[in-house]
Amino acid sequence: MNCPTCGGPIIQKSPARLGAVGVLMVASLGAALFVPLLWAPAIFLAAVGGYLIFWATAGRGRWCRTCKQVPRESKPKAGQ
Ligand SMILES: [Zn+2]
Repeated sequence: MNCPTCGGPIIQKSPARLGAVGVLMVASLGAALFVPLLWAPAIFLAAVGGYLIFWATAGRGRWCRTCKQVPRESKPKAGQ
């Protein structure tokens, strides 16, 4: 399967797993509430986790290596 925008290779991951990891990373902000030293890495983790959740929902686990973003399909077609 290739990217509809540039025709490059698509990376396919499980949306469920991406979402679970993303939620865990965002939840690290909760740990930082108790350990102030963790604030900097927790904010970084939460930012990455938020992107993973976006990847899982908007891209349904797909990501184009060339465009560096989730592929946008203007007209979804069955049988691909
Ligand atoms: Zn692309």
